[in-house]
Amino acid sequence: MTPYRGRFAPSPTGPLHAGSLVAALASWLDARAHGGCWLVRIEDVDGPRCPPGMDELILGQLAALGLLPDEPPVWQSRRGSLYEAALDRLIAAGHAYGCACTRAEIAAAVGPRAKHGELVYPGTCRHGTLGRPVRAWRLRVQGRVDWLDRRLGPQSQDLEAEVGDFVLKRADGLWAYQLAVVVDDAEQGITDIVRGEDLADNTPRQIALQRCLDLPTPRHLHTPLVLAADGHKLSKQNGAAALDLADPAARLREAALRLNLAPGPAASTPGEVLAAAVAQWTAQWTAQCPP
Ligand code: GLU
Repeated sequence: MTPYRGRFAPSPTGPLHAGSLVAALASWLDARAHGGCWLVRIEDVDGPRCPPGMDELILGQLAALGLLPDEPPVWQSRRGSLYEAALDRLIAAGHAYGCACTRAEIAAAVGPRAKHGELVYPGTCRHGTLGRPVRAWRLRVQGRVDWLDRRLGPQSQDLEAEVGDFVLKRADGLWAYQLAVVVDDAEQGITDIVRGEDLADNTPRQIALQRCLDLPTPRHLHTPLVLAADGHKLSKQNGAAALDLADPAARLREAALRLNLAPGPAASTPGEVLAAAVAQWTAQWTAQCPP
């Protein structure tokens, strides 16, 4: 049996907030509940969006909460050669192709927008760029992907119709999240992905990539989103407040409640909250889905 390996993979575009703590805590709890390893990966491929020092700030916040990775963290910005090798393999196998289209050209060709607010690429360059210079690299997708989420149940997405051939390397030369996350999860031997539900609709793209690269697909559990008072998802982009870590045990208790766990008032230190939450998580999640 493959030993459990989980991860928390923050993009250091802002400090941890109440929403990202829920994802961090859930991934940590699931790793502990399975007697597994928990890793932290800094997803800083989009360098211009990551303020200097934000990575260390997040690692410090996690440490203050008692969420300590079992192996040294890795930074995606230092792993470009792995992504390059994967893209080369995809190109050689005919799964990836160069695209010369600008966003404006795609918008003009497509009209309607996909449900993620992204344009469904109409496949203009699937059979070549007709001599135009390559700007970005895309994955050729086909049909529908079905997958099972431990919390959401059976899921399905018509990748071809709803997403289209998606970008692996951007026109500005930056690696796309989809490629980096798939390469890293495989390279780090991740067996279980536990993350926020906002990423659930990215999963079919990642499964398609895993299939093209002959990589295993991890199990998935997407956690409930934390909504702001106005009903919007809490996110760094809409300025969610950084966690107030004067009382880390209180922040952990709040995050645990969002996961339907109630570590109780007797748990007054971060270690006590975490221990109580692991016991409850184990009862709630591992009975249903043995490793
Ligand atoms: N880096 C992504 C984020 O912060 C999470 C990626 C993942 O867990 O797959 O939203």
